[in-house]
Amino acid sequence: MKTLPLTLSGLEPLIITEDSNFVNVGERTNVTGSKRFLNTIKEKDYDKALKIALDQVQGGAQILDVNMDEGMLDSAEEMTNFLNLIASDPDIAKIPIMVDSSKWEVILAGLKCMQGKGVVNSISLKDGEEEFLRRAKIVRRFGAAVICMAFDEDGQADTLPRRKEICGRAYKLLTEEAGFHPSDIILDPNIFPVATGMEEHRRNALDFFLAAKWIRENLPGAHVIGGVSNVSFSFRGNNRVREAIHSAFLYHAIEHGMDMGIVNPTQLEVYDDIPEDLLERVEDVLFDKRDDATERLLEIAEEYKGEGSSVKKKQDDEWRQKSVEERLKYSLVKGINEFVEEDTEEARQKIGSPLEVIEGPLMDGMNVVGDLFGAGKMFLPQVVKSARVMKQAVAYLTPFLEEEKKQNKDTSDQPKVLLATVKGDVHDIGKNIVSVVLACNNYHVIDLGVMVPADKILDEAEKHKVDAIGLSGLITPSLDEMITVAREMKKRGMDLPLMIGGATTSRLHTAVKIDPEYDSSVVHVLDASRAVAMAGDIINPKKREAVKAEIKKEYAELRELHENRQNKKELLPFEEARSNKTKIEWEGYEPPKPSFLGNKVFEDYPISELRNYIDWSPFFRTWMLTGKYPDILEDDEVGKQAQSLFDDAQALLDEIIEKDLLQAKSVIGFYPATAYGDDIKLFEGADLSEIKTKFHFLRQQTKKRSGQPNSSLSDYIAPHEVGITDYIGFFAVTAGIGIEKLIERFESENDDYNVILVKAVADRLAEAFAERMHERVRKEFWGYSDEESFSNEELIAEKYSGIRPAPGYPACPDHTEKRILFDLLEVEKNTSIKLTESFAMYPASSVSGFYFSHPESRYFRVGNIGEDQVIDYAQRKSCTKEEVEKWLSPNLDYDPYSS
Ligand code: SAH
Repeated sequence: MKTLPLTLSGLEPLIITEDSNFVNVGERTNVTGSKRFLNTIKEKDYDKALKIALDQVQGGAQILDVNMDEGMLDSAEEMTNFLNLIASDPDIAKIPIMVDSSKWEVILAGLKCMQGKGVVNSISLKDGEEEFLRRAKIVRRFGAAVICMAFDEDGQADTLPRRKEICGRAYKLLTEEAGFHPSDIILDPNIFPVATGMEEHRRNALDFFLAAKWIRENLPGAHVIGGVSNVSFSFRGNNRVREAIHSAFLYHAIEHGMDMGIVNPTQLEVYDDIPEDLLERVEDVLFDKRDDATERLLEIAEEYKGEGSSVKKKQDDEWRQKSVEERLKYSLVKGINEFVEEDTEEARQKIGSPLEVIEGPLMDGMNVVGDLFGAGKMFLPQVVKSARVMKQAVAYLTPFLEEEKKQNKDTSDQPKVLLATVKGDVHDIGKNIVSVVLACNNYHVIDLGVMVPADKILDEAEKHKVDAIGLSGLITPSLDEMITVAREMKKRGMDLPLMIGGATTSRLHTAVKIDPEYDSSVVHVLDASRAVAMAGDIINPKKREAVKAEIKKEYAELRELHENRQNKKELLPFEEARSNKTKIEWEGYEPPKPSFLGNKVFEDYPISELRNYIDWSPFFRTWMLTGKYPDILEDDEVGKQAQSLFDDAQALLDEIIEKDLLQAKSVIGFYPATAYGDDIKLFEGADLSEIKTKFHFLRQQTKKRSGQPNSSLSDYIAPHEVGITDYIGFFAVTAGIGIEKLIERFESENDDYNVILVKAVADRLAEAFAERMHERVRKEFWGYSDEESFSNEELIAEKYSGIRPAPGYPACPDHTEKRILFDLLEVEKNTSIKLTESFAMYPASSVSGFYFSHPESRYFRVGNIGEDQVIDYAQRKSCTKEEVEKWLSPNLDYDPYSS
C-alpha cells in the first residue's frame, strides 16, 4: 500500500511526510511537566496560560501538547476550558493540538472541543483489546490521529521483542479493526533512562532505536514518537551532560526513524558541539557498546558539571591553536569579538584579498549562525553578538576593500531589504533586531531608521532597487501610517513585497486593513525569528508568486472571519452603556487631598534609585527569551543566555550611573476635578470655579454579563452632580535624556549588541521610574496610602491601591489625549520629552499617564465601540468623526494589546 503523509491541522495544515524533518511537540502547556503552567491554571490566570502556549508556538513548536492531569484540578473541565480559549486565539490555534491525558474522560473532553485535526496522546492495550478498540474507534470518529503507547495487559514493553510485539499488535488492530489509516497511527515504543547502574537498563536506548527502525520497516505508514528527556533521568542536576545525551539520543533516534518528539527545544546542545570525549562516552552508553560504559560516562560527567570548569577552560584556549579561517568562524559562531581585528588581519594577509576573507570564512561562519538560529538552536542575544563580530570584521576590511576599488562589492546575488520605522514613531528595538537577523542570513539591509515618511521610504526603495520593504512601528497610530505606505506603493505601481512588523501590528490588522490596499505581497511578520523565512519566501523568484497567492488567500479568509465576528459582537446603544457605569458609592466619600496642587518637576532623578525598581521580565522578552525574572536565570540553556545578558545589563547600568550617561527627568501634577459624563474636567481653584482643561474618555459598549458594568475611566472620579471636590493626578517620566550620545558611541564601534542593550535598559529605567514615582505619589505626594510597604515583586504585580493608566493603552486608547496632558504639565519644557505627529514620545524611553486614587479603580479594555459613541466623542473633543476614527480604529477593532 502506498503510504500517505500524516496530515494534521489547527487553523493551518501540518503535513508530515516520509521525508519531513523531525516534528517537535511543544511540551510546556503540561501541568505535570511545568510548574509555571500548573500555577497559572490553578490561579485561573488564563491570560498567562495562553501566553505560555503562544510562547511555544513562537518558539517553533509545530504541535501543542496540552495536559491537565493534576490531582487538584478538574482535569476535564480545565481541558475543555483551555482548548476553547486557544480556539479563539488564531496565533495559537493555527497549530494542531495534542490532547494529553491518562484519563479517557479528559481525552474525550478534549476531542469535543478540538478544531481541525489533532492527536490523542494516548491509548494503549493496558486495559485489554476490547477497551482499546472501543477507544480507538471513538478517536477515529472524531477524526483525530492517535498515539499508541507500547503497553499491554502485562505492562510496559521494556525489551526489543516486547516493543515489536505490542506495536505490531496495536498497528494490526488499529488498521484492520478500528479503521485507521496507517499514517494516522503514531507509535511510542517507550524511552527509558540509561546509565542507571542497573543491568536491565543497559539496552534501553538501543532497543528504542531498533524498535523505531523496525516500526518504520515493518509497519508501513506508522509514525514514531517519544518523550526524550526521560532518557537522561539519572543525570538530574547535571544539565550539561543531560543536554549532550538528549542531542545524541535525538540524532540517532531520528536516524533510526523517530519522526516526532516531545522535547524542550531550548535545552538542546548542537550535536556537532558536543565535546568529542563526552560524545564518545555518551554514545557508548546509548548503544551499549562496552561493559564499563556507564562508569566511564559517570567519570567524565563530573568534569562537565557546571559552567567554567577546567575542561571548559582547556577548550577555550584550544580553539586559538586552529587555522585562522577556523578561528574566524569560531569567533563568529560564538560571538567572541576579542580577537576580531588580529584574526581578520591575519586572514587578509594569508588569503590576500579582503573580499575573499568576507566571502570565505566570515560568510561561512554567518551561514552557520543563520542556520542554527533558524533551527531554533541559537538564541537571539548570541545571534546579535555574532553579527557584531561580522560587522567589526567588515569594518576593519573596508579601507582595504576601497583600496582595491572593490568597495562596490558585487552584491547582485544578495537580496536587499529596506527597513524603516514609519513616520511619527520612534521605536526601533524590534526593527534593529530584525535587521541584525536578516544580515546574518546574507541579506543586504538598508535601514532608514525611525520617523521615516512614506515618500522617503519609497524613493529609497526605488533608488536602491531593493527586493522587499519592511515597515515597523510600535504605537497604534503607526498602523494607520502603514496603510498610507501601502496605498502609496500602489499609486506608484510598485510590485515589491511588503512586510509588516511591530508590537501592535497583527496578522488580522494586516489582513483587514493593509492587504486590500496593495496588490503585491503584504505579509505580517510575527517576530524576528520569522523574518528570515518570510523574506526568503516572498523574495525568491521561484516561490514568490505562489507564496503571494497563498497569503492573499489566507488574508481574504481572515477578513471574512473577522467580518462575521464583528457582526456577531453585540453592542449596546451608547446611552444604555452609559447608564450601566461602574457603580461607586460617592455619598459620604472623602477624596484624599494631594499635598500640593499644580505641577512639580524632578530634575535629574537618581538612576541608582530607579534601578531597584526595574521589572526585568520584559527585558528578557525583548531578547526573545521567555520566562519570569528571576526564575528565568535557572540553570538551563535559556538561563545561561539570560544570565549573561543580565550581567551585561548590570555592567551597563553601573557605567551609566558612574559616568552619569543618562538623565532621568519627570513632572507630576495634581488638580481638583469632577466628572461630567465621560469627560473629566479640571479646576483652577478648590472652589471648582474656573475650568482649566478637560480630558475625554471612552466607555465599554459591548453587552455585559449581568451585573458587569460598562466601565470608563471617568467613572473613578466623583461626578459633578455629587458636589464633592475630587482630585486627579498626572505624570510624565523619562530616562532617556542623553541616550543619543551613548548610541552614537556604540554605533561607531559597530556594536549593535550594545545599541540594542542600551535602548532596552533605558526602557526598563523609564518603566521603573513610573513605578517609583507612583509609589512616592501614593505615599508622599498624594499620600493616601502612606503606610504601604511593598516589595518590588508586589509593585510589579500592582498590589497597591489606585492605578496609573496611560493614553494609548486599552482603557484610554486615544493617543491624542497626550497632547492635553503635555500642555497641562508643560512636559516639553519641564522634561524635554517631545511628542511626534503620531503622539509617540521621544526619547522612546518615556512614560506618561494619569493617577486615579479611588480604591475601586482598575485597568480594563474599552474594546469595540459603536458609531453613536464615536459621534458623541467627536463632539466632546470638538473634532471630526473621521479624526476620531483615524486615531482609534486600529485600537478598537484589533485589540492590539491583547497579547
Ligand atoms: N512593570 C511593567 C509595567 C508595565 S506597563 C514594565 O516594567 O514594563 C503597566 C502600565 O501600563 C500601567 O501602569 C498603565 O500605565 C498601563 N496600562 C496597562 N493596562 C492598561 C489599560 N488597560 N489601560 C490603560 N493603561 C494600561
